[in-house]
Amino acid sequence: MQPGHALIVGAGFGGLAAAIALAQRGWTVRVHERRDSLRGEGYGIAIHNNMAHIFSSFGILDRVLAGGMKIDRRDSLDAQGDVVMSRKTTRSPYRIDRQHIIALLAERAREAGADIRFDSPVTGATPDGAITLGDGSMHRADLVVAADGVNSTVRDALGLLKQRIWGRDCGVRVTIPRLPEEIAADDCGGTVMIEAWADKRRVLFCPVTKSEFYVLLTCTARDAKACTTPIDPTVWTRSFPSLRDLFVRIRDTADWPQSRWDHFQTIRLKRWSVGRIAVLGDAAHAMPPYLAQGAGHAMMNALGLAAALERAPDVASAFEQWERRERPLTEHTQRWTRIYGATMFLPKPFKRVSILVEKIPWVATQYVRVANHVPTGISPM
Ligand SMILES: Cc1cc2nc3c(=O)[nH]c(=O)nc-3n(C[C@H](O)[C@H](O)[C@H](O)COP(=O)(O)OP(=O)(O)OC[C@H]3O[C@@H](n4cnc5c(N)ncnc54)[C@H](O)[C@@H]3O)c2cc1C
Repeated sequence: MQPGHALIVGAGFGGLAAAIALAQRGWTVRVHERRDSLRGEGYGIAIHNNMAHIFSSFGILDRVLAGGMKIDRRDSLDAQGDVVMSRKTTRSPYRIDRQHIIALLAERAREAGADIRFDSPVTGATPDGAITLGDGSMHRADLVVAADGVNSTVRDALGLLKQRIWGRDCGVRVTIPRLPEEIAADDCGGTVMIEAWADKRRVLFCPVTKSEFYVLLTCTARDAKACTTPIDPTVWTRSFPSLRDLFVRIRDTADWPQSRWDHFQTIRLKRWSVGRIAVLGDAAHAMPPYLAQGAGHAMMNALGLAAALERAPDVASAFEQWERRERPLTEHTQRWTRIYGATMFLPKPFKRVSILVEKIPWVATQYVRVANHVPTGISPM
């Protein structure tokens, strides 16, 4: 089909990737973002091979990677701080600051011709390709891409939600300064991502820049003593005695006003599109973050959509091909990220087994399937 005019709702990973991929294929693109700028929460995103393929196809891979850290090893610890399993990283070899990636995606989208409008919330949409903005104005397009996040206004206006599964777990992401000795240790032992499990809690941390750690704390949503802002180091030390100093540093140095506890969710839609509107990213397929692939799937499905539109005779058949092609892998990841995260809820002896189970090649293959996937719409690197 001939490229036309596209309106994109949301300037996150999914919306900006869609903007670039469509503009590169000849579409005129306008992005509506409700925030007043690209600034969002500061935290690290794990970059896997599938995402690296996409950044490469956008011509920004080197600059993306320059803003983060390569992680050499992943160590899983038990409550005592003993290493249960150590492996070279294949799943998330890089950890990059989110703001840095978003800024580069937006720059690339503008270079490709996209117009990004801020303070521009979308309040409604109809299947014929019309959206309503907060100021009451209505705009029409040949294609609307709703990438407006887990609480998507567009998805809900269209009645596409099939299931919203609230997990038992929630998490907070922060960054904290690294100590000089921690920075120096990179040169001797390599960079390490630590993941520790104890009680119904999990701690993950690794460098995100030379001078900062990215930290993700996870616990059950009912664990009122653990999911406080800021955290109480005594409460977390009870589960992880060897990480006491880390918890004090998290309490004292994280940017708490900028941080929030996210209750993890899984979103499933009746279908990913209706009329001229496609829904993608967390709006269509949010997932708990244990496999760190939410942003990866948002970008992969944005690129896959642009590729499908390029090949199909009309929007309806492009949407059909796109969903048929991308949805099974997305649902595979939704399933396996929940399986991985279930370690948190297991009794102590089973936690160890659950970590070690990754040594079974079949299980490891399920975990890394999406990371090793070459996204639709690009040629292999
Ligand atoms: C604790 C945690 C850790 C995570 N770690 C990782 C990780 O390591 N790797 C990874 O790949 N993923 C990770 N994720 C998931 C990842 O953050 C999301 O999957 C990703 O941000 C989804 O991108 P998106 O573009 O769909 O939505 P979002 O990033 O939520 O972007 C949506 C955009 O739409 C805008 N918007 C919303 N409503 C409107 C409206 N009505 N009008 C206009 N604009 C609107 C928002 O302001 C926002 O800019 C993690 C998630 C959590 C909760």
